[in-house]
Amino acid sequence: MSAGESRDTRLVSPEDPALRSWVESANDASGDFPIQNLPYGVVDDGPAVRIGDRVLCLRDALDADLFVKKLASSDEFLMAMDVGWLNGIAELDTAQQTMLRHNIAALLAHGSPARAKVERLLRPAAECEPSVPFVVGDYTDFYASLHHATNVGSMFRPTNPLLPNWKHVPIGYHGRASSLVASGTSIVRPHGQTVSSDEGPPTFGPSKLMDYELEVGFFVGRANELGTTIPIADAWNRIFGFALVNDWSARDIQKWEYQPLGPFLAKNFATTVSPWVVVRDALEPFRVPGPPRSAEDPQTLPYLTDPAGTNLDITLEVLIASVAMREKGMAPTLVSRGSFRDMFWTPAQMLAHHASNGCNMEVGDLLASGTVSGTTKDSRGCLLERTWRGTEPITLGDGSERKFLQDGDEVIMRGFCEAPGRPRIGFGECRGIVLPAR
Ligand code: MN
Repeated sequence: MSAGESRDTRLVSPEDPALRSWVESANDASGDFPIQNLPYGVVDDGPAVRIGDRVLCLRDALDADLFVKKLASSDEFLMAMDVGWLNGIAELDTAQQTMLRHNIAALLAHGSPARAKVERLLRPAAECEPSVPFVVGDYTDFYASLHHATNVGSMFRPTNPLLPNWKHVPIGYHGRASSLVASGTSIVRPHGQTVSSDEGPPTFGPSKLMDYELEVGFFVGRANELGTTIPIADAWNRIFGFALVNDWSARDIQKWEYQPLGPFLAKNFATTVSPWVVVRDALEPFRVPGPPRSAEDPQTLPYLTDPAGTNLDITLEVLIASVAMREKGMAPTLVSRGSFRDMFWTPAQMLAHHASNGCNMEVGDLLASGTVSGTTKDSRGCLLERTWRGTEPITLGDGSERKFLQDGDEVIMRGFCEAPGRPRIGFGECRGIVLPAR
């Protein structure tokens, strides 16, 4: 961007923590979507941006001539507006993405001369159907929390919880993109093979040990060609943005099938994604180094050394509401609260590792972190750990106990970043209700 354009009143940086919006709900200190956030999503099959409790569809803004000429006359930008998902916006070069973000901020900033025009276009977010925001060609799930891997490992392999590779290599598996669903989609309890003794024989029926996994996902914003890699120093800039992910898991199916090739049908019956993608620029103030490695930990290989530090200080919560609680209008019960800053492997390490063999990452590919768990019981990000395989049930607000999810339970995940002197940057919610097996 040239110096002349940066003085254009139609471009304002939302990275200024003092900036305020004329959309009043955006200035609510406990809200997720201040003008510093401006996450992208998809509404009515087109790209949109969230501000407070409102949504601005970008095609509406284009039709109302609200974008600077440099965007409105760009073929790439016009093509991005025609794409029904965020893939087109992610394909824009960095300068155009920044210009778009600053243009949107200028429209929504306090004192904007365009206020009257924009106000007519805003839609209530509550009336917009959540979508999976990208066409996701491939979905990969990692296993990047040391606390989660150690807890789960100690349940499945008490004598050998953390396998010898774990601190050397970010462990992951290829998930299934076809069963990614939008927040609010109900999840049918899956059937599968389960065993009552380790050696079998199995029976086939509905999973009895249905679980959620609290994860952070990120969408690839810049592709690499097959046969080329993504250097770790470049990995952060290749991430378009972040969302919440619930990797629904059938623990009884998983236990029988996971060896030797890893998760399969225990995972791929559904994965829920939150609708608003928080871009890197909004999260930059909350970037932190990964946790320090102990003296006994192996040295990280050079291709995985992430000196910039790309963990994020995102507080993550899981809440559950039973059918009875929803009928009585009770608030959901907070089941856990943890932080993404505790992850052993960082997003840049996951992405650089994924491409380190020449695997081509495509724009819109989704990489998820694996269950985010901390050191304390109440920071464990799935019921398997939270109830320690059902041996320590939790109690919901209606007095009922949970070892694993019951039919009708709604799982609600929330995430937000907070720091003194800065507006809170939130992710909104990732929701889903468990339906009975069919
Ligand atoms: Mn997972």
